Amino acid sequence: MAKCVMRKMRRKGLASMAVQTAADTTTLDLGPASALSCRECGERFELGPIFACASCFGPLEVAYDLPTEGPEELRKRIEAGPNNIWRYAPLLPVPADVADKPSLNPGFTKLVEAGNLARELGVTGSLYIKDDSGNPTHSFKDRVVAIAVEAARAFGFTTLSCSSTGNLAGAVGAAAARAGFRSCVFIPHDLEQGKVVMAAVYGGDLVGIEGNYDDVNRFCSELIGDPLGEGWGFVNVNLRPYYGEGSKTLAYEICEQLGWRLPDQIVIPIASGSQLTKIDKGFQELIKLGLVEDRPYKIFGAQAEGCSPVSAAFKAGHEVVRPVKPNTIAKSLAIGNPADGPYVLDIVRRTGGAVEDVDDEQNVAAIKLLARTEGIFAETAGGVTVGVTRKLIESGALDPTLTTVVLNTGDGLKTLDAVAPTTGPAATIRPSLDAFRAAGLAI
Ligand SMILES: *Cc1c(COP(=O)(O)O)cnc(C)c1O
Repeated sequence: MAKCVMRKMRRKGLASMAVQTAADTTTLDLGPASALSCRECGERFELGPIFACASCFGPLEVAYDLPTEGPEELRKRIEAGPNNIWRYAPLLPVPADVADKPSLNPGFTKLVEAGNLARELGVTGSLYIKDDSGNPTHSFKDRVVAIAVEAARAFGFTTLSCSSTGNLAGAVGAAAARAGFRSCVFIPHDLEQGKVVMAAVYGGDLVGIEGNYDDVNRFCSELIGDPLGEGWGFVNVNLRPYYGEGSKTLAYEICEQLGWRLPDQIVIPIASGSQLTKIDKGFQELIKLGLVEDRPYKIFGAQAEGCSPVSAAFKAGHEVVRPVKPNTIAKSLAIGNPADGPYVLDIVRRTGGAVEDVDDEQNVAAIKLLARTEGIFAETAGGVTVGVTRKLIESGALDPTLTTVVLNTGDGLKTLDAVAPTTGPAATIRPSLDAFRAAGLAI
C-alpha cells in the first residue's frame, strides 16, 4: 500500500484495516479519480484500499476531477471508444490506457425495446429491458469487478476475493483468470448449482460457508483484519469504493442508448443497494457534464418478499433498514442487512419513486412472462424487477405513458431450479406421426 495512506490510516487508528501491498503513490494512476470522500461527513482521504471513514465510519466513495471539455467533445470521445464499459474511462477510477489491459471487457449490453411486454402490462409509453445477462459471466457483476480489478492492480494486490450471493464469485473468478490474479471467493454453501459451478470453473479457489450471505460477509470482514487476509483485494469490501463505481456504467449506457437522454423511470433490483445508488450517481454526473438534459427521473427499487428489508422500511416511512433473515428463491438478492439501504431510501424518496417487492410465485410468473413476450430468460433477480414493474403499474406508482427502463441483471440459466418444476416438454412421445397427432399439438 502507498506509504502516505498507511501513515494516514495509522494516525487515524485504522491500521488494523490496512492491507499491505507493493504499490507506491507516485505510480498510482486511477485516471480522473482524485480522492475518496466520506458519504456521511465529507472528509477526504487519499486513494487507497480503504472503505470506511476514519472519523465517522461512513462509507467512502470515489471523488473525481471530471473532464473539463464541453459536452459535444466528450460525447464524441465516448462514442469513439470501445464497445464496452471502457468507453466511459474518462468518468471512472481507471487509467486512460485501461482498454489495453487484460480484462473481460464487460458492458454495452442490449437495451431491448419490449413492445410485447409493454402491451401485456398496459404500458403505452416506451418500455425497455436493459439486459445485463449479456455480460461475460452472465450478470451485471462483471461491470463492478472490472473496475475493482484495475484498483487491485494499482494497489499491488495479487489475490482477488469477495463475499458473494453467487454471481459476484463467478465474475471475480473469471476476471482473475483473465487478468492474472489468484482468486479465493466465499459464498453461502447452499446456492444454486449454476452459480456454484460458475464460481469454480475458472480455476480459482471457491469456499462454501455454512451460513447465509450476511454470515459470509461478516467472515470476510474478519479475514481482512487478520494476517490470513493480508495482501488480498476483496472487491466488495476493501475495494468497495471502486467496485461500486462500475454500476455507474449502467446509467451511462442507458442514457447513451436512449440517444443521450435520461429515462423517465427505472426499476432496479436491490441486494446491498450499491447498484441503485451508483446508477443515480451516474445520472447526476451526466447532468452535471451536460451530456443529458436535466429533467426529473424516478428511481424504483425491487426486492423479493422473502428478503425485503428496504421495501419494508420504505413502506413504513423509516429512514433506517431493519435487518431480516432471507428466505427467497431470488438468492442473488438475498442480503438481509443491506449496506446501502438508507441511501437507497433517500434516493427513491428524493426522485419520487418507490420500493416494492414480489413473492416467489409472482417472481416465477414474471420470469415466464418476460421469456414468453420478449425471448429473454432472466434469473430470479430479473423476475423480481419485472414482477415489481407489473405491481407498480397496477398500483399507479409507475406511469405507463412514460419511458421506463427495467433492469435484467442476470441469466435464467443460472437459476433453472426456480422455473424447472413448472416448465418442461408439452409432451414426450414415440418418434411417430400417430403419437404426435395423439398428443394434440398439431394445430
Ligand atoms: C448483486 C446483484 C444485484 C444487485 O446488487 P447490489 O448489491 O444491490 O448492488 C442485482 N442482480 C443480480 C443478479 C446480482 O447478482
